[in-house]
Amino acid sequence: MDIKDLIEETGYSPRRKATCHGGEYCSPCPFCKAGEDRFLIWPNRHNKNGEYQGGRYTCRKCEKYGDAITFLRDLHGLNYRDACIQLKITPKTRLFTSMPKQPPRPVIAINPPSIWMEKATAFMEWCHTNLINNSEALKKVQDRGFTTESIRKYKIGFNSGDNRGYDFKRSRQDWGLEERIKDDGTSQKIWLPVGFTIPTFSNDGQIIKLKIRRTAWKEDDNLPKYVEISGSKSCSSIYGNTTLPVGLVLESEFDALLIQQEASDLLYCAALGGSTKPIDAHTDALLRSTRRILFLPDFDQAGAIAWVKWKRLFPQIHRILTLSGKGAGDAWLAGIDLHKWIESEITNSNKT
Ligand SMILES: [Zn+2]
Repeated sequence: MDIKDLIEETGYSPRRKATCHGGEYCSPCPFCKAGEDRFLIWPNRHNKNGEYQGGRYTCRKCEKYGDAITFLRDLHGLNYRDACIQLKITPKTRLFTSMPKQPPRPVIAINPPSIWMEKATAFMEWCHTNLINNSEALKKVQDRGFTTESIRKYKIGFNSGDNRGYDFKRSRQDWGLEERIKDDGTSQKIWLPVGFTIPTFSNDGQIIKLKIRRTAWKEDDNLPKYVEISGSKSCSSIYGNTTLPVGLVLESEFDALLIQQEASDLLYCAALGGSTKPIDAHTDALLRSTRRILFLPDFDQAGAIAWVKWKRLFPQIHRILTLSGKGAGDAWLAGIDLHKWIESEITNSNKT
């Protein structure tokens, strides 16, 4: 795992830019969130002293720089030793005594502008009607375990694209966002790819976040499978009754909704939308007031990194794993009764 993999796990899709230092990539900055290409990544580059620590990065805006170890320390709050373990790098023993780094402070996420909410609501409603009227797309969502009632309740939708079936590109200013100019001088657009739409609502029912699962996505795709629409609130998606004594933290919004459909009487869900995303202040406060937190990591290295971080952040957290497959959706496909499974995991977690 190198710095480029870490940036990807954090939810970005670095683009190849040049061949210098064994390959140069660019992406928005995970620290200051600036731009599209202000953040430069060299996955094969060594440190000044000739050591290789997962490659290097630098932001031309906020001037954060370092290697894969500093990235895990500064963005994800891992200490030096845990960062080395995750990267499969042998730690230097003299550093063992160094103080663990303080966990990062939760970020205050702000709501999207009201114009964004209006535009996103109209788009979401259009996609939802599309899905209900498109038997082929509807079947795909039902095949993943969702009932028509849940599809209506959670406002899941399908963006079929323009009349030629192409992705929509929208002006940022039209959606109430500030203009952003790319390095090539053109202005950045809001990308609404063809695919399944999953909205997130605030407590008062306003849309604050919109995710699209791209139907065109394939293995080795340079672009992500799940696209968070520009302007979405940088927060976890909370689903269900948050006054319940148990909360489940997991990565995928789709899996969180499926668990809500099956077990909303047992727990609420917080979907991170990317297992290594920093936690927002609202979610942090909610989880701190929850008696028992279950954590269902994805079966990949990013999931392992996230677990190291989360168990340091929340003493009442308990890791659970599905019996088969990767996430809850795969478990459902394998015929597992999600309600029974969650119930037994809660019982187990109360014993420890
Ligand atoms: Zn930056």
